[in-house]
Amino acid sequence: MPYPTKPLECFSLAKELRARHYRDIMAAREQGKLLVSGGVVGPWELLEGFGPIEFFEGEPYGAAVAAEPELAAASNEATDAHGYGRDVCPYARSYWGSMFLNRSPWGAFPRPDFAVQYHHSHCGTNDKWFRVLSEHLGVPYYVMDYPRLRPADGALTDAQVERYTGYLTVQYHQFIEWAEKVTDRKYDDGRLIQALVHKRRSQQLWGEICRMQQAVPAPLNLRTLYALMAPRVSWGTRAEGVSYLAQLRDEVESRVAGGIAGQAEERGRFLHDFVAPYIAMDIMKHIESYGAALVVSLYVCNWGGGIQDDGQWGLVPAFETLGGRPPRDREEALRDIAHWDLKRDCWLRMFSCQVKVDTAIEFVERWKCNGAIYHLNRGDVGGMLGILNARLALKERGIPTLLYEASATDRRDVDIVKVKDQIDAYMESLGLRKL
Ligand code: SF4
Repeated sequence: MPYPTKPLECFSLAKELRARHYRDIMAAREQGKLLVSGGVVGPWELLEGFGPIEFFEGEPYGAAVAAEPELAAASNEATDAHGYGRDVCPYARSYWGSMFLNRSPWGAFPRPDFAVQYHHSHCGTNDKWFRVLSEHLGVPYYVMDYPRLRPADGALTDAQVERYTGYLTVQYHQFIEWAEKVTDRKYDDGRLIQALVHKRRSQQLWGEICRMQQAVPAPLNLRTLYALMAPRVSWGTRAEGVSYLAQLRDEVESRVAGGIAGQAEERGRFLHDFVAPYIAMDIMKHIESYGAALVVSLYVCNWGGGIQDDGQWGLVPAFETLGGRPPRDREEALRDIAHWDLKRDCWLRMFSCQVKVDTAIEFVERWKCNGAIYHLNRGDVGGMLGILNARLALKERGIPTLLYEASATDRRDVDIVKVKDQIDAYMESLGLRKL
């Protein structure tokens, strides 16, 4: 019997915040704000200390380009023409192509004041992404080295956390000094602390939302969660982001209490990872056409909660280095950011095969999934790390899995007929028929 559904009231607010984010980016320089580009998992709360500022995050922008099929195609071809192979990060390729063409979905490509990035050794594109920007547009670029000396299970010892916390904290201090000179602005510690408080609250609220997806029926489907995630990513360090997430959390809570489903049919529940096939969302609609509910994804959950002491995903109290109180000064704030990013942050911890395996097993079990579907996102070297290991581990536990190859941003890398055939065969093997 179908479950009751109803439109999500917060959806229009999510759309408005996403649109406002890009309006603010496009207008930043004429409004006298700083515009800074970089990787989406960097410590953006640090940047808030420089005063009026907008963040131009690389990966969401790549997805925004993918949402415009003509621009996406032209951008990918422009990147090809500059000599970058199809095995390079699909987000970076659409970002670069848009830059080479000097075309964005809203006008000319927005030239940032500078770029900053965490360098992670798991992915070759990572720090080179913004080096290409820096060389092409002549903007200053700063890279912070994120320590990756981790054992196979991704967990650092307490001594390593302590040592690396010092290593990162020194780099944060040096970055602030560098950016003060580059921008001729004085850093404001009060703004840093406020942004950090907002970011931790945003992580908590988004984590609660993801956890409520364990309910049967799931209150949201994954396609909706992708759209709702955008303001969590772009507004997470600001009061508007916290207010949006608090409203969303309350609304999702009331949907769970009322048995309101994200989609009427939930004949099977599935994990879907990793990155969304933004350029081919018809794939997800095809999955849903079997009454299959995509209820959870590490890619989505990474924006909330944190890694607990037992290695599982969950809600971790903020400011544990300070006994739960917010930081009082720059030093405390920077050390707390470093500690979180090393020990608790889901994004930064997940680039280990074992973490991908463990979270897949955990998510399938706790979100009551009947199977797991993996998107092999061509060129996404870091995101794909451990996907095949996770698939194997699930298969060994009798969990049916599907792996399809596609792309987040390049439609040329999606053989839609083949992918739909694979989905048909997988669903039929589970006894599911098209609605
Ligand atoms: S981890 Fe994946 S999405 Fe991130 S920069 Fe590397 S290839 Fe791109």
